[in-house]
Amino acid sequence: MDRVILHCDLNNFFVSASCLSRPELRQKPVAVCGDASKRHGIILAKNQAAKRMGVKTAQAIWQARSLCPDLVTLKPDYPLYMALSDTVRDIYGRYTGHIEPFGIDECWLDVTPYTQSGGFGRRIAEDIRKTVKYETGLTISVGVSWNKIFSKLGSDYKKPDAVTVIDRENYGRIIWPLPVRDLLSVGRSTRNKLELAGINTIGDLAGAPLPLLRSLLGKNGETLHAFAAGQDMSPVKSVEHHDTARGIGNSMTTKHDLRSDDEVREAFLILSEMVARRARAKRLQGRVVAIYLRDNKLEHITRQVTLKRDTFISDEIAYHAMILYQNNWDAHLRPIRSIGVRITRLSPIDRCVQLCFFDMRRVSPQSLEFAKDDIIGRFGPDAIIRASLLHTVVHDRHPKEVHDVHPLSYFLS
Ligand SMILES: [Mg+2]
Repeated sequence: MDRVILHCDLNNFFVSASCLSRPELRQKPVAVCGDASKRHGIILAKNQAAKRMGVKTAQAIWQARSLCPDLVTLKPDYPLYMALSDTVRDIYGRYTGHIEPFGIDECWLDVTPYTQSGGFGRRIAEDIRKTVKYETGLTISVGVSWNKIFSKLGSDYKKPDAVTVIDRENYGRIIWPLPVRDLLSVGRSTRNKLELAGINTIGDLAGAPLPLLRSLLGKNGETLHAFAAGQDMSPVKSVEHHDTARGIGNSMTTKHDLRSDDEVREAFLILSEMVARRARAKRLQGRVVAIYLRDNKLEHITRQVTLKRDTFISDEIAYHAMILYQNNWDAHLRPIRSIGVRITRLSPIDRCVQLCFFDMRRVSPQSLEFAKDDIIGRFGPDAIIRASLLHTVVHDRHPKEVHDVHPLSYFLS
């Protein structure tokens, strides 16, 4: 049976994210730019309106302005992009544990098991597209196919906010006329070599004799031929949501708004537990705690604090998250729809701390945390639970795969 692989791509991600809280900009040409004063004054991303005026990525700002005098320029907000990227990946995580991120705004999802229980690729893709739009205000385009290469081409085929299915019946019609440069990993030099040999489209490449491709490109010629012919079998490599450089974060979009400090504290505790446990599993600790809060009007803030020492302790993370919240937000006045916690500036956990773990006579917060991991590792996520969270139903049964949790209010409705 064919696999069912989705490629989900957030459309104009940086600009869309930055405009979430400024809807008045949506119809205007907008670009996210590096800091001109630090000599990074180039266009990092632009929206469709700016594109129509000829604004291009990597252009100097003055150049873009000469083409498009009304261009609105915004500074990048990386903590926001990461928080939104997490929120969207958490949504993907409701459908499958097999998620392979490709940059901050793209992911492959293998949903094959899901389709065996009666779903269809297109239906799942439409469902994900609508959910992301409803819960975050961002749009994605989705390609659905039996391999990663075609699904990626599918997500590019129609956008924004669209689903394209590439199946065994239509791929010759949809994929093969595309220029060969559209294929993943075909760079300028490969493209030149292929075009010199008269191979201009993906269909040309699929029909080209293997010895010719080998002589032009070596081993890579075979790989690209397989890509073009729909024979790519590479798996969706489920990695942890976040690599070390990004830090470790979890977020959730709540079906019902958080309206009190207690609800917010509860959410931070749940999220901090997950963040801290994932950090410890990788033997990592963080120096910076960051929070992300968004209200039901899609207005958001990100705030962070640098700690005096590194931490992998959930209580500490939750404590600092709560202080950041208290200094910057009031849930009574602005109910919260989406909330996230992240630790960054990661470093390996000290050896001496690990030693404490084995010396259980010395009960420290550190060893308590490791002991909890041990119990959960042996007996499952329900084996130990914070008394303060007893009244909250938060157990996701597969915490390694799914990072989708719900606070109390979700279950009381
Ligand atoms: Mg994108």
